[in-house]
Amino acid sequence: MLDLLIHNATLPDGRTAMSVAVRHGKIVGVAPGLLAPAQTVIDAQGQLLSPPFVDAHFHMDATLSYGLPRVNQSGTLLEGIALWGELKPLLTPEALIARAMAYCDWAVAKGLLAIRSHVDVCDARLLAVDALLEVKRRVAPYLDLQLVAFPQDGVLRAPGALDNLKRALDKGVDVVGGIPHFERTSEQGSASVKLLCELAAERGLRVDMHCDESDDPLSRHVETLAFETQRLGLQGRVTGSHLTSMHSMDNYYVSKLIALMAQAQLHAVANPLINITLQGRHDTYPKRRGMTRVPELLAAGINVAFGHDCVMDPWYALGSGDMLEVAHMGLHVAQMTSQAAMRQCFDAVTVNAARVMGLENYGLEAGCNADFVLLQARDPVDAIRLRATRLKVWRHGRLVAESALAQAQLHLPDRPAQTAWGALSNAAPAVNRRAAPFPGRRLATNPERLASLARSPQPPGEPDNTHAD
Ligand SMILES: [Zn+2]
Repeated sequence: MLDLLIHNATLPDGRTAMSVAVRHGKIVGVAPGLLAPAQTVIDAQGQLLSPPFVDAHFHMDATLSYGLPRVNQSGTLLEGIALWGELKPLLTPEALIARAMAYCDWAVAKGLLAIRSHVDVCDARLLAVDALLEVKRRVAPYLDLQLVAFPQDGVLRAPGALDNLKRALDKGVDVVGGIPHFERTSEQGSASVKLLCELAAERGLRVDMHCDESDDPLSRHVETLAFETQRLGLQGRVTGSHLTSMHSMDNYYVSKLIALMAQAQLHAVANPLINITLQGRHDTYPKRRGMTRVPELLAAGINVAFGHDCVMDPWYALGSGDMLEVAHMGLHVAQMTSQAAMRQCFDAVTVNAARVMGLENYGLEAGCNADFVLLQARDPVDAIRLRATRLKVWRHGRLVAESALAQAQLHLPDRPAQTAWGALSNAAPAVNRRAAPFPGRRLATNPERLASLARSPQPPGEPDNTHAD
């Protein structure tokens, strides 16, 4: 018997009326109209079923600390770094763990089930490293947390940073980080890239560097990152994060650079919410947008993901763990408005980000982990448009979060009684067959029925005894 059978789902690739069958935490079948006995049967009523959201770039050690010990007045990256420096000595493991755990709750509720977080290793106590390793252990049953050893103050610039970084890796941090544009000179920046890539190659680890997060068109460390990746045979295992200086670079130089990045199979991560606010702060007008060249990188075959980077911390006051908000901003900043480009923005917070992290068994096909999210949307573009409600979120086949249908009651003459900002068929919620007040796939047409369908008949995580016919 199956553990879970979902009917009538639309998949991100456009297939409709699909069934997804789950046993022992894995997907065992994806096909139209599967029939088999199952513990729980869900009629998705044509809504979008997607693999979970993935955030390829985050800072969980700083999250939810906004206002501690004060607010960033200039709004710049550099004041944010200085402010974080003021906060670091005040951190306690308990507070850091509590904030990170609360953020992971937000993430799961938004269908975000894998996060790559940088963790600052420049504090010799490695307090944040220990705290986030503990968080990683605690959330492992429901969220994949991958940690990057990130020398925020520069691995060569900050005394003891290299030793601290190595100690963090010894403790179990997964990925080697860096920040070449923050080293004292361009030469030191290049030296840091070489050193850190060699360290990763020695230890068999991936690399993810904050690289050229600057408006300076001459910040060109990504060139060295591509070179070292190729020299050390790290192709496909190295990520350049931010890469914002590329927006200001000379076009001729970029035409050479992107080809070198593609050859090295670098991954690129843009952080649209953060870089549209942090970059261009020294400009009057025209004011630069400050995001890397996403469509051009994609066109060259480079894997590009969008990261959230910050939520309520010294660099950014907003955010809620919603990767559709990230995709929405990325779409606008990069002017990716064609149907195909908008779908690429959805990929940037799902499959592309999973590729950056090297996640195994990610996706909606037989053999993959039964991790997915049911969205109140008819397709990926609709999901971005609405920052769609996550009706249900499953991890390894187990329901871990659910939200009520988003809709408003209308009190207007000669108008419908409610709206959900889509065609009526979009507004139909997921519903357990047992709970349906009517048989089949008929769609609810009045507010009371919609509201009753949106309520789950079972608490999250508890098995339902409904059997398939
Ligand atoms: Zn970052």
